[in-house]
Amino acid sequence: MHLKIITHEKLVFDEDVDEIYTRAMDGEFGILKNHVPIMSALDIGVTKVKQGSSMKFFTTMGGVLQFKDGECTILTTTAESGNDIDVARAEAALRRAKARLEDNDAAIDSKRAEAAVARAMARLKATLNR
Ligand code: ATP
Repeated sequence: MHLKIITHEKLVFDEDVDEIYTRAMDGEFGILKNHVPIMSALDIGVTKVKQGSSMKFFTTMGGVLQFKDGECTILTTTAESGNDIDVARAEAALRRAKARLEDNDAAIDSKRAEAAVARAMARLKATLNR
């Protein structure tokens, strides 16, 4: 089957794959080539792609996944290959967002800080197999 990961800015991935595992709003799920057609809203997380004996990790920050007739398309706001992630930057973003959440200032937008924590954690997780 074929997978495309597309953001506003670029085509991040466009290759044949054997298995796809991703994180939807209602939990993680996997797609093998005979999967029934599906349309799913994605959460902030890591999409794992199996190609033969190798696994590739991508962050996928929300968006939508569609699978039909062996073609899978993920449209997402931001996506990065685990190999392209700057670990120090993600760690700094995580520290900043956690500090914001621990601050009792009423002006803190906690939903925004929680999303920043989730993005940073997804980025760190996506670097784990490199
Ligand atoms: P930061 O606070 O470090 O900017 P962020 O979660 O606010 O993190 P985003 O708004 O999700 O960043 O992304 C902005 C752009 O920066 C995107 O193009 C994204 O791919 C890139 N980016 C963000 N963090 C990293 C990272 N740790 N490594 C590589 N690219 C990153």
